[in-house]
Amino acid sequence: MARAVARVDLDAVAHNVRVLAAAAPGTQVCAVVKANAYGHGAVACARAARQAGAGWLGVAGAAEAAALRAAGIDGPLLVMGSLDGEDLGIALAADADVVVWDEGFLGTLPSTARVHVKLDSGMGRLGTRDPDTATRLVEQAGPRLRGAMTHFATADDRADAFFDEQLARFTAWIGPIREQRPDLLVHAANSAAILRDAAAHFDLVRPGIGVYGLDPFGEDAAAHDLRPALTFTSHVAAIKHCAAGESAGYGRRFVAARDTVLATVPVGYGDGWRRATTGRADVLIGGARHEQVGTVSMDNITVDLGPDGLSGRVAVGDEVVLVGPGLPAEEVAARSETINYEVTTALLPRTRRDYLGQAAR
Ligand SMILES: *Cc1c(COP(=O)(O)O)cnc(C)c1O
Repeated sequence: MARAVARVDLDAVAHNVRVLAAAAPGTQVCAVVKANAYGHGAVACARAARQAGAGWLGVAGAAEAAALRAAGIDGPLLVMGSLDGEDLGIALAADADVVVWDEGFLGTLPSTARVHVKLDSGMGRLGTRDPDTATRLVEQAGPRLRGAMTHFATADDRADAFFDEQLARFTAWIGPIREQRPDLLVHAANSAAILRDAAAHFDLVRPGIGVYGLDPFGEDAAAHDLRPALTFTSHVAAIKHCAAGESAGYGRRFVAARDTVLATVPVGYGDGWRRATTGRADVLIGGARHEQVGTVSMDNITVDLGPDGLSGRVAVGDEVVLVGPGLPAEEVAARSETINYEVTTALLPRTRRDYLGQAAR
């Protein structure tokens, strides 16, 4: 029996791509599959997204682009992150589009490269803050020019007005350029921006989190008809009595207040179940909630089955759901003070990935 299994429903991925495409009518979709598709498996998710109509795929780094190509995935592919000399060669060899914000960097790119000029409209990370520099890059790119882009810092915070400021800055820059260059692919929207404001849609949208059926606002994915693709499971490996005063796990952070029964589940931070969930998570066994108790260790967690835990309701070998129907990544994230993005992206190679759905055939 596998220690930890990520069941990924590729039909859900395909469904979510269609939902996001419908939310941004008239645009192309760039499905973002960086960080192993937010932990879901980049190659399988990229294929499912392509089949569902995502014309573009987006990744952060050159090695991610090369891995998709090595798996036989062709078509438009954008490396969104920064590239140093060696990585640039890998990205170009993978026939990926790259992002530019610096004239010196643009100068090193061959005439066959395809570039997207990035304006930093307020994210404060990559891109040039200066619209004039961005315009010069557009001019200097010549036939290499494919797109122009920006990225939002607060799209997921509906109450925040900075989103509108960023959009206004980007629109003021790209508006006149777009009129002269109707062929230019203009893009800005991540998942939250797609659902939040049609004015941010432009020609191409770049959803990541929503593709996996996770809610970009950290709330309820179903409210946007997004279907979570991931069910993260392990199983009951051992069941044992734990008398009042006895402890379980490193540091004795759990000491039983009453006689109870504990299940040991062979999943831990070595599989990608974050240690930050210590004392702050439930699991589902046979549909019933049980509290995770004790420190999350590299290879195991312990779960309190309650005083009647030996009644046979739970048996060795039973499936344990850590993330899945009834236990969304948004809940896991909120309780351990992070975001759903980190919960799924944390899944490590020791977790086996099983793919379900038509798109997996
Ligand atoms: C990760 C990323 C996205 C996708 O963002 P989500 O919030 O996951 O939809 C889009 N654009 C850029 C530049 C990114 O880095």
